[in-house]
Amino acid sequence: MQKKRFKISKYDLLKGYFFLFGFPKDGFVSIDVTNKCNLRCKHCYFFEQDVEEHELKADEWYEKLLEMKRKKTIPFLQCTWVGGEPLLRKDLIEKGRKLFKYNTIVTNGSFPIPDWKDNVNFYISIDGDEERHDLVRNKQGLYQKIKKTITESPVPVTVAFCINNLNHHSVEKCFHEWRNHPNVKNFCFDFYTPIETLSDDLAMSWELRDSLVDRLSRLKEQYPDFLAIDLEVLELMRSDRCRKVTDDCVFARQASAFDPSGIRKAKCMLGDKADCDRCGCVVPFYMYSLTHKPTVIKNTLRKWFVKPFRKKAPLKEPVYP
Ligand code: SF4
Ligand code: SF4
Repeated sequence: MQKKRFKISKYDLLKGYFFLFGFPKDGFVSIDVTNKCNLRCKHCYFFEQDVEEHELKADEWYEKLLEMKRKKTIPFLQCTWVGGEPLLRKDLIEKGRKLFKYNTIVTNGSFPIPDWKDNVNFYISIDGDEERHDLVRNKQGLYQKIKKTITESPVPVTVAFCINNLNHHSVEKCFHEWRNHPNVKNFCFDFYTPIETLSDDLAMSWELRDSLVDRLSRLKEQYPDFLAIDLEVLELMRSDRCRKVTDDCVFARQASAFDPSGIRKAKCMLGDKADCDRCGCVVPFYMYSLTHKPTVIKNTLRKWFVKPFRKKAPLKEPVYP
């Protein structure tokens, strides 16, 4: 047990690199592959942006990326392919992904997963159990469709649950439902980020968000490999700590998000109307946890000496309204 605690993994080495040298400028990019989608979800930030109708053709995108590579504008480490629905333009991702060391494709699960085994992770978005998911996604039968997509996928996938005010009751239920699926390698969560022009019905109170951090921390302690969010990242998402991260967002400062016409967005993939103060996207919290030196030192010492992050309040069972 003691031995395992001090074992150094590849991920630890990467963390060491980020600690020493910081997060490489544009080491993380996101590309909106298309401005089209087969769905219209209640929480969609994408269609709230002032996105141009025009989208670059696949070969125009490829040329643009090649030009960036020639000029060394970005280091081509990690690219997240989003949208719209990115699998509507497989041709672009098929070519573009080969330029990056790592790729993540975030899809709504309506379309078959391509057989791309190297350097790609597929994230399938869900918004609660079957009833809540189909309600938030405005599409009856989608949850069952996703199950079929995942079962038939040629590669194991990650299921990504965006928690909001309508679906937070089903966090544990969903987690356990997918935990035993042979084609789901792990599970992750985001909190819904309020968007200026969308109704606030989906936004959660701070109290609720903190209680969810407690619930997710317990799942992490029980299923450390299957839940793919570190405890220190969850801690940063608490109401009394999150502003430290979002007031100077590492994503906005060090990463880049491109819209479908190839233009850099002002701050991040969520667009200008995202409420940074209530940001629930896990990415800036991850980036902070890997690069903010006092936080890294504190978390490392805490891990080595196995100290809990904080005394947890007794959990109340979530109840469906
Ligand atoms: S699947 Fe994604 S892009 Fe499409 S409507 Fe839903 S949130 Fe928006
Ligand atoms: S919405 Fe979140 S990820 Fe985007 S710039 Fe604001 S804090 Fe950063």
